[in-house]
Amino acid sequence: MPDYNLTQEQEILRKSIREFAEQEIAPVAQELDEKEEFSVELTKKMFDMGLFGMYVSEKYGGSGLDYLSYVIAVEEIARIDGSQAATVAAGNSLGIGPIYYFGTEEQKMKWLPELCRGRLAGFGLTEPNAGSDAGGSKTTAVLKDKKWVINGSKIFITNAANPLTAVVTVQAVTGTRPDGKKEYSCILVPYGTKGFTAKEMHKKLMWRASNTAELYFEDCEVPEENLLGKRGEGFHQMLKTLDAGRLSIGAMGLGGAQGAFELALKYAKERVQFGRPIGDNQAIAFKLANMAMEIEAARNLLYKAAWLKDQGKPFSREAAMAKLYCSEVMKRVVTDAVQIHGGYGLMKEYNVERFFRDQKLLEIGEGTSEVQRIVIARNLGLNVR
Ligand SMILES: Cc1cc2nc3c(=O)[nH]c(=O)nc-3n(C[C@H](O)[C@H](O)[C@H](O)COP(=O)(O)OP(=O)(O)OC[C@H]3O[C@@H](n4cnc5c(N)ncnc54)[C@H](O)[C@@H]3O)c2cc1C
Repeated sequence: MPDYNLTQEQEILRKSIREFAEQEIAPVAQELDEKEEFSVELTKKMFDMGLFGMYVSEKYGGSGLDYLSYVIAVEEIARIDGSQAATVAAGNSLGIGPIYYFGTEEQKMKWLPELCRGRLAGFGLTEPNAGSDAGGSKTTAVLKDKKWVINGSKIFITNAANPLTAVVTVQAVTGTRPDGKKEYSCILVPYGTKGFTAKEMHKKLMWRASNTAELYFEDCEVPEENLLGKRGEGFHQMLKTLDAGRLSIGAMGLGGAQGAFELALKYAKERVQFGRPIGDNQAIAFKLANMAMEIEAARNLLYKAAWLKDQGKPFSREAAMAKLYCSEVMKRVVTDAVQIHGGYGLMKEYNVERFFRDQKLLEIGEGTSEVQRIVIARNLGLNVR
């Protein structure tokens, strides 16, 4: 029989992060969203809570916890606010992840302690003309006099243009492989390097208090040793990073669904129409019953995928399923949660409106829902494209 109990440490962790999110994030979430403001102060508090580098070994300044603990942490932040959950999830999975999993010992010692304690890293993969088709990226890095000279641009890069940004991992074409295909490598570009500029992107529908940037590289030079891991492994590193990252996007879907569900349940018990709480109508009660059921299923799928990763077993298929399912469960939950709130659900003072907007990104970032279905279908042995 599988053991469905969380460990005592995981339960304590959930409780402490829940309290932190309710006390520190909930009071400011709506205002930051409205102002479209990335909060350095709040991010520092999240660092102080140990929310960065949870799964990184203590040797590199992390907490040495399992991946499931990290997933639970993201879930708890997302239960309150998608933007702050995005900062944490991207900071860990996309910022810390590639350096932790693929960096040389020297790179890990150099970057990880500060990325666990107070600085952020971005992961630059997406380009204006290469999103789902990451193989179409055009940014180049040429090795000249023991330096990588980078030219090109990236778009939609989380955590890459704010006062806490320390470094960006950039995927670039570094040559041609023997089979004639492009050779990709990842290169670490410290913030402030000459020829590298990052511009914050505004006017987002969702995750408005998270930091999103366009990156430009013009003859940007970094030392040869800034190559992440080995030359030519950029594509593999990117796929593996996204596999793990999908678990945290799943956690954002799960936590967001949980948060919206709780708001809807409370409202259904309080709002009285026709002389009784609206939740006493089957039409409303059944919506809430469906939400509870789907959230339970989503949690089981996501935790199983995280457990597989913690066991060192293959988890790529389950990660795609968890990301897809959790984000689509959140879609159904936020849609019904707004419906249950009636007209008030469309107003900004009711938090459910923010959950409704924040959900949409989960079907697009770190591989769209269509791409997840491609991953799952390929795992079924189908040659789908
Ligand atoms: C707020 C935000 C934060 C982000 N953070 C990061 C980050 O930190 N780092 C980073 O590198 N990227 C980041 N991204 C980029 C994100 O990963 C991409 O937006 C995503 O991969 C989709 O790429 P695209 O937007 O170019 O859409 P496209 O790839 O152009 O897709 C458009 C539509 O076509 C569909 N489609 C494309 N190809 C196929 C196919 N073969 N079969 C079926 N349907 C297909 C897609 O599913 C989608 O519906 C972020 C994006 C946003 C909005």
